[in-house]
Amino acid sequence: MVSEHIASLQPIAWHEPRDSYDVVIIGGGGHGLSTAYYLATRHGITNVAVVEVDYIASGNTGRNTTIIRSNYAIPEAIRFYDHSRQLYAGLEAETGAAIFHRVKGHVWIAHTEMGMRTERGRVLMNQAMGVDTELLGPADVKRLVPQVDLTGAGRYAVLGASHHVPAATARHDRVAWAFASGASSRGVHLIQHRPVTGLLRDGDRVVGVETAAGPIRAGVVLSAVGGWVSQVAAMARIRLPVRTHPLHAFVTNDFEQGLDKIVASTELACYVSQTERGQMLIGAEFDSQPSFSRLSSFDALRSYAYKISALLPFLRSMRILRTWAGLCDISADFSPIMGETGVDGFLITTGWGTWGFKAIPAGGEAMAELIATGRTPGLIAPFGLDRFRHDLAMADQASAGTR
Ligand SMILES: Cc1cc2nc3c(=O)[nH]c(=O)nc-3n(C[C@H](O)[C@H](O)[C@H](O)COP(=O)(O)OP(=O)(O)OC[C@H]3O[C@@H](n4cnc5c(N)ncnc54)[C@H](O)[C@@H]3O)c2cc1C
Repeated sequence: MVSEHIASLQPIAWHEPRDSYDVVIIGGGGHGLSTAYYLATRHGITNVAVVEVDYIASGNTGRNTTIIRSNYAIPEAIRFYDHSRQLYAGLEAETGAAIFHRVKGHVWIAHTEMGMRTERGRVLMNQAMGVDTELLGPADVKRLVPQVDLTGAGRYAVLGASHHVPAATARHDRVAWAFASGASSRGVHLIQHRPVTGLLRDGDRVVGVETAAGPIRAGVVLSAVGGWVSQVAAMARIRLPVRTHPLHAFVTNDFEQGLDKIVASTELACYVSQTERGQMLIGAEFDSQPSFSRLSSFDALRSYAYKISALLPFLRSMRILRTWAGLCDISADFSPIMGETGVDGFLITTGWGTWGFKAIPAGGEAMAELIATGRTPGLIAPFGLDRFRHDLAMADQASAGTR
């Protein structure tokens, strides 16, 4: 089944840019590529270029820990992420690409009464929205995750958890290539190694991008640049409520399959899932200090490894193979910012922080609809930039999973 899917992935055609396009998307990460894909497939708009400074998926899309879930805490977010989760579930069938989508369930462990209050609230809100999340006591946690030390190494006792049954993982690079290949085969131009250095303006309107190799004109410009959004927004003379913070992850050597669930801890701010190859893929909290550094440090690694192995002691016998970091665009309310900016011709999809991989299909689908119709889809209307001006923040920090 999987090999049939791989065989049917269309090769990508690489292009030199034309002088102008209907739509230019800055950033060849998941959000830029999925927007291009849905513009082509849902709206027949193919005169589109995705301009990437490096290679596609070289940003956070190729660096994340691949968790797809919709167990958020506010209705607007639950609705949005659950739609994205459903799009992911159908993505192999839709694109013909093997993305290794696997439903695993997400066990979010709490160690304090405050943590349990958060998980209880999450369960109630999820169930009210029709999302399958249940509350677990310690014995249920042990049944689903037999490897867990319920005493948390004598320091972080497990009081209970929420269990989000439909949570899944998918291979991040394959997701990016599925969208890239699907867009490219319909005529979208993917342009790698071409930094956007400025925006072209005609009066107050943005009418294209300046690149290191010359200008490209566009009917609409979308910024989908992940952690670099502040620089690109500054080109449009906009200041966003976004700060860039590094987020680290690491993988161990292969291990026999056996950790069936995605396991996360609210208060320890760390999480783990097992990859197809058997590696333990471990994530942690983002650095408090805003920075554009993607360097990992031994001290940080030691602290994350200590916390996760307090919960799952079998990890102590494993070796760390690789560690890396990405640059997360963290918004003031820990929710995404999608849509119009107040500058004609210039749209953004940002604020994806530590949580935007799961949003790639729904975010791209909604941005494509906005570009094609000029109307903001209801699903993303609560996540507009103007919410900060109107004091309508979508505060959802407890759902970030890394704080
Ligand atoms: C370690 C880590 C773990 C994570 N784990 C998860 C997870 O388990 N689940 C989840 O949902 N999310 C997770 N995330 C978050 C998720 O990876 C991101 O939110 C998501 O990938 C953002 O996609 P994007 O397309 O917006 O940005 P990116 O993938 O970063 O793409 C932006 C692209 O824009 C390009 N670019 C920047 N500036 C320019 C320019 N001037 N000109 C041209 N191109 C430019 C960059 O090179 C980059 O390729 C994690 C992130 C990290 C770092």
